[in-house]
Amino acid sequence: MKYLPVVGLEIHLQVKTKTKMFSRVNAEYFNEAPNTHIDPVSFGLPGALPVPNKTAIEKAVRLALALNCKINKKIHFDRKNYFYPDLPKGYQISQFDKPIGENGFVEIEVGDDSRRIRLTRLHIEEDTGKSLHSGNETLLDYNKSGIPLVEMVTEPDFESVEEVLAFAKRLRQIVRYTGTSDAEMQKGQMRFELNISVRKEGEKGLPNYKVEVKNIGSISVLEKVMNYEIERQSALLEKGEEIKNQTRGLKDMTGVTLFQRGKESSDDYRYFPEPDIPPITFSDEYISNIEKSMPELPNQRLERYLNLGLELEQADNFIEDKARGDYFDSVLKVASDDSEAKEISKWINTDLTGILVKNNKDYNSDILSASDLYYLIKMAKEKKITVAIAKSVIEEIIKQDKSESGSAEQIINEKGLIQIQDDSEIEQFIQEVVDENAKVITDMEKNPNALKFLVGQVMRKSKGRVNPQTAEEKLVQKLNS
Ligand code: MN
Repeated sequence: MKYLPVVGLEIHLQVKTKTKMFSRVNAEYFNEAPNTHIDPVSFGLPGALPVPNKTAIEKAVRLALALNCKINKKIHFDRKNYFYPDLPKGYQISQFDKPIGENGFVEIEVGDDSRRIRLTRLHIEEDTGKSLHSGNETLLDYNKSGIPLVEMVTEPDFESVEEVLAFAKRLRQIVRYTGTSDAEMQKGQMRFELNISVRKEGEKGLPNYKVEVKNIGSISVLEKVMNYEIERQSALLEKGEEIKNQTRGLKDMTGVTLFQRGKESSDDYRYFPEPDIPPITFSDEYISNIEKSMPELPNQRLERYLNLGLELEQADNFIEDKARGDYFDSVLKVASDDSEAKEISKWINTDLTGILVKNNKDYNSDILSASDLYYLIKMAKEKKITVAIAKSVIEEIIKQDKSESGSAEQIINEKGLIQIQDDSEIEQFIQEVVDENAKVITDMEKNPNALKFLVGQVMRKSKGRVNPQTAEEKLVQKLNS
């Protein structure tokens, strides 16, 4: 019997702000010495009064709009009461009945299908501190305490692992495009909580149990956990066992989960309105200003690129790496028309990206200008320079110190890299290669790579200035004559 997963997600996202959610402490705590980014508010001292961070709220509203949520115009904060040493106040300031956004959705593509995953809610809250367990001791670091978080909850709409992964990646893109967060998962800026059960293939309706896996900090671990749980739960049901509601934790990064506690009823946090923060009302103007300044979103960008004739895989590279997409756009602007988009895309995704990786750079670094790349693509297309030369000029510019760099055109002119058009000059190179490689030519029938080798010799002699196709044609002519 085949069992298929039913999945819902909860996502916690650290919002990128200068200061914490309810106080003026510097929010950039990563790698800082423990307990150096604290104050009476984030330390939860009695009498300390929270003041909401305007930027965090604005970013949360922007994200909620990007996720197609309905915005609650009047919001307030609530206290979520529970005790844990990393929460010194004994409650977390969160939002309960009036979250910033409700009833949104995210559009995802899986294979040729597109699907809508519904978002139940999006609210803002504060992060907790961090417990570090070593031996018999627990150490507490409150630097993270009070970092602004957005929590998002989806409906249990996912029916496959692929859908969850597509959603996680698309959500991370939206979060980055809107500037809500860098969503660097290895820094804990985006964390997943998985609700997963399985049902027999063909069955409708939600299963009568739910397994919760907390604190998943990477998309690849998320994938492994889902596969592990699908197998584990399917095997139990196949044996006729009943699965109870429970919370499980990660054993390690391999996806194996361990039982933590059973869950008979839902937690009772005794939520009540936070008395120290007055309710907040968003004016229509506030919301429409955020709407008006909304950047192009990933699915809009994808559609634009597909309309330019790009293949999905090519376009996807530009969606996932926004800086690469921005660079592609800047070259498109220089190009004479959009019919060149496909070719430009190939140069960027294959040649330029390869050269950048080789030189330890990326699209956020200062690389060659859009007009230089476009000039080289055009020169190669018009066969004025060879592709090999175009690539070597790209690499030369990328390696250069920007203060003394020349333009692509300067380099080509100064070094005399223009492709040789003069037939007699090409034939002379060919004659030399034929004279110098008599043995290779005699053994040609036994050696399938001989022709390629000879073309390579012509390229070397001409310093890459002969079109390789022309070289090959003329070589074949010469050898057959
Ligand atoms: Mn939460």
